[in-house]
Amino acid sequence: MKRRALVAGNWKMYGSLSFISEFAECFLRVSTMDAGETDCQVLILPPTSYLGELARLFANTAVELGAQDLNPEMEGAFTGEVAAEMVSDLGGRWVLVGHSERRHYFSEDDGLVARKFAAALRGGLQPILCVGETLEQRDAGQAEAVVRGQLKAVYDEVGAARFARGTIAYEPVWAIGTGRSATPRQAQAMHRTIREYIVEVCSNAGTEVGTDTTQTADMRILYGGSVKPENAAALFAEPDIDGGLVGGASLDPEAFAAIVTAAIAVTQPG
Ligand code: PEP
Repeated sequence: MKRRALVAGNWKMYGSLSFISEFAECFLRVSTMDAGETDCQVLILPPTSYLGELARLFANTAVELGAQDLNPEMEGAFTGEVAAEMVSDLGGRWVLVGHSERRHYFSEDDGLVARKFAAALRGGLQPILCVGETLEQRDAGQAEAVVRGQLKAVYDEVGAARFARGTIAYEPVWAIGTGRSATPRQAQAMHRTIREYIVEVCSNAGTEVGTDTTQTADMRILYGGSVKPENAAALFAEPDIDGGLVGGASLDPEAFAAIVTAAIAVTQPG
């Protein structure tokens, strides 16, 4: 049986107060997110400064919110940084860790990403761990090793029970913001590798207190990298792709709603 789909919109450093109110009005009008439970969990990750206002605009709807990054400490003299509990104070329940733009432009290494993952859980947020290889790494035949290494760093930091509380987003760096998505087949192959890794390490963890290997095997793995209304259905139809992490297309409420509709369609029986 397919896991519950999840579609997350990463707005990066885009938006304004007028944009977010127009977005919310249009998205709620064209999607089915205006109330209650749906077959697809939908979240938006805006710049943190807009979280509070978006929480107000999406109050009493099924749209959930989160941040794009956090500091691994709970508080302190870290000018310009935001801690997990501050995100949750503003209505966020989720946070991205290890997005490739953070790894690349802000020199975040696997160790820091792992500490951010742990801090998210400590602060009551659900982390979405982004992993993915560059084009050079893929061409050199290293894609799987790179992704496994990124997963292992977090697993080694937090252990099986806490690792299982996260969500994974496979985002090949060469597909992000380029308009060139991985094919469903390429994406499915890596999602399968990730799922096998998760099952393997968590079953090896054996007797670790609180580990639920069934829950671990059911961790959701999202695909990210130029997801659009035109390619979403084919990607989401793959057995190990549980939804999407959407950048550019999530800034267009109609396109984002169409991607959500594609995710809902694959979870419907028949
Ligand atoms: C992203 O920012 O995580 C992303 C996948 O971007 P895009 O959809 O624009 O490729």
